[in-house]
Amino acid sequence: MKGKVYLVGAGPGDYKLITVKGLECIRNSDVVIYDRLANDKLLDECKNKCELIYVGKESSNHTLSQDKINQLIVSKAKEGKVVTRLKGGDPYVFGRGGEEGEYLLEQEVDFEVVPGITSAIGGLCYAGIPITHRDYASSFHVITGHLKDEEKELNWKGLSSVDGTLVFLMGMSNLKSICENLIKEGKDKNTPVAIINWATRYNQKVVVGNLGNIKEKATKEDIKSPSLIVVGEVVRLRDKLNFFENKILFGKNIVVTRARSQSSTLVDKISELGGNCIEFPTIKINETKDNKELEREIEDIEKYTYIVFTSQNSVQIFLDKMIKMQKDFRSMNKCKIIAVGPSTAKSLRDRGIVPDFVPNKYIPEYILESLKGELNENDNILIPRASEARDYLIENLSKICNIKEIKIYETILGEGKKEQIIKLLDQKIINYITFTSSSTVKNFISIIGKENIDKLKNTKLISIGPVTSKTITEFGLNIYREAKNYTIDGILEQIIEDSRRK
Ligand code: SAH
Repeated sequence: MKGKVYLVGAGPGDYKLITVKGLECIRNSDVVIYDRLANDKLLDECKNKCELIYVGKESSNHTLSQDKINQLIVSKAKEGKVVTRLKGGDPYVFGRGGEEGEYLLEQEVDFEVVPGITSAIGGLCYAGIPITHRDYASSFHVITGHLKDEEKELNWKGLSSVDGTLVFLMGMSNLKSICENLIKEGKDKNTPVAIINWATRYNQKVVVGNLGNIKEKATKEDIKSPSLIVVGEVVRLRDKLNFFENKILFGKNIVVTRARSQSSTLVDKISELGGNCIEFPTIKINETKDNKELEREIEDIEKYTYIVFTSQNSVQIFLDKMIKMQKDFRSMNKCKIIAVGPSTAKSLRDRGIVPDFVPNKYIPEYILESLKGELNENDNILIPRASEARDYLIENLSKICNIKEIKIYETILGEGKKEQIIKLLDQKIINYITFTSSSTVKNFISIIGKENIDKLKNTKLISIGPVTSKTITEFGLNIYREAKNYTIDGILEQIIEDSRRK
């Protein structure tokens, strides 16, 4: 089998700024060789068995030399593998992609290049700086601030005399000399300059000044690499065009404690609003393997008069099983379907099943009260649900009619790492922690340890509803806000409202 290499541009940082073709390469590769400036989140797209190799370079701290990287790419391709060499920005803009391409050609390895949005343009855009503008700049120049041969000076005279926007990459260690050289060769020392650190990421930081004072300002703000240095009148537009940093949740660190398999909606919405989502899965959904009991009841589904779904997981596992068994959904046509909670109802509706009853309070006592009048001893109720669920409802319903409960999944401790979260709590940089069920609260505490509970007092705890809130208060903690309608969107509304107030 013949291997192949794709040199792929990952875009400037925001992982959504990769191209459709680049994403396709990541998804189809056997090996992904990536560096520091490519967003890690893109690696979630890799195939299960994909080999991930980090070859990041931090200016003086080279993990692997360029020669070694070249050899690595070639050796993987020669094993017959499809390799993505993932690089920040565009592979041919100071990415040494050209050198890698030449080497591949020499070694007779088939390769393609997938361009990316370079930070030199996209990074400016997210800082509110258009690289050209009819009133301010009719050309632009992208320059390395770090020469291969330090002796070989840039053409400062030429650079100082052009009117276009100058963008220096890899220039932070030479910032002082860049400014001095431009001034010396005739650029006005009042020419606006912006330094953009970690452009397009949640932690983007921008310092604005002019050629005369930017070095001092950047040092004061402790701005380091990776940063873009932008010199030119277009910097003035930032005040008007800064859409990114003006997003409502920009600069906010928000912890999501749901199971990874369920967190994507919340994670996506937070990122869309500019927030930094810290995924800390406290629970994991474990479907009961080879559930013969479930299969038997599905086979016999016609005998039931009610099915009660208490979570999205139950809906998903139950209906997936029906599909797998090729059991027609119309076999449930005599059953009334009850969905506990709006999210459970939504996941049924999304699959074409409109629940007959959705109790508007997610409290067993209330559900029992609302069902009591409807039921008689001839009813047959099926409840597929989690193994650790409360038994109150079951106990009381079984006094009225026949109940069949099947445990179709359990929630176990998630993979969130104690050290990771403790570090962030100690740094006091977490703005909100979202709790979407009682088990997320209990497991959160069990992961960090009771002795660390006080650390939660410095951040705002947001609860999805009264049952979860009760668990939070039982641990002696305060709820900062509780969702009005007990959903993910309800949680987001609270965070947005709170951020807007400031
Ligand atoms: N191929 C890349 C550039 C690689 S050189 C591209 O097209 O963007 C590495 C330099 O790029 C860094 O030193 C920094 O100057 C710049 N850079 C890349 N990504 C950046 C980011 N997100 N924020 C700020 N600077 C970035």
